[in-house]
Amino acid sequence: MFNLILFGPPGAGKGTQSERLIDKYNLVHLSTGDILRSEVSAQTELGLQAKGLMDRGDLVPDEIVIGMIKSKLQGNGDATGFIFDGFPRTEAQAEALDALLQDLETSITMMVALEVEEEELITRLLKRGAISGRSDDQDKSIILNRIEEYNAKTAPIKNYYRAQNKFQSIRGLGSIDEIFDRISGSIDLVI
Ligand code: ADP
Repeated sequence: MFNLILFGPPGAGKGTQSERLIDKYNLVHLSTGDILRSEVSAQTELGLQAKGLMDRGDLVPDEIVIGMIKSKLQGNGDATGFIFDGFPRTEAQAEALDALLQDLETSITMMVALEVEEEELITRLLKRGAISGRSDDQDKSIILNRIEEYNAKTAPIKNYYRAQNKFQSIRGLGSIDEIFDRISGSIDLVI
């Protein structure tokens, strides 16, 4: 199996690039943000728990997102690989993911991190909010809180994958095609 973590701050382009990577490498896309938003719109118990936190730009508790990923992994036993988008976001999530993949007799192949500077992230997210209506993209203070959460809790897990020699950093500025080529180039060196 080829299991990729596509990593980066909010607005780095993970969703856009994931859409292309799933086609090229035949992967199942697991985005915790997408799963959470569909739980919110279906007004499930889980969605109701997550909504307030997401609206503020805070992280949802580890046990909730780990449980979501666990059930998606179990429901896709025949996949040739996964692309994790927006997960893991804390060290506890990274450790839980390793254990879940071990149960499936597989592991993370690599983490690709998209690097984009903060000013550009804010511009992209406000633009996305204006088009999509996504409420956490429309308010600058919520965006700044998400970036802060990323810097404090999420960015440090790069070291977790660096220590395993699985970390690759990619410049996330340029056209969508250029960035896709950079990511594909670094994947093709590994698989
Ligand atoms: P972005 O990466 O642009 O912030 P996402 O769609 O990945 O957007 O996430 C939106 C929100 O969902 C986050 O701000 C957070 O509240 C919640 N969320 C998504 N994934 C996780 C996760 N792995 N752990 C905790 N919270 C998460």
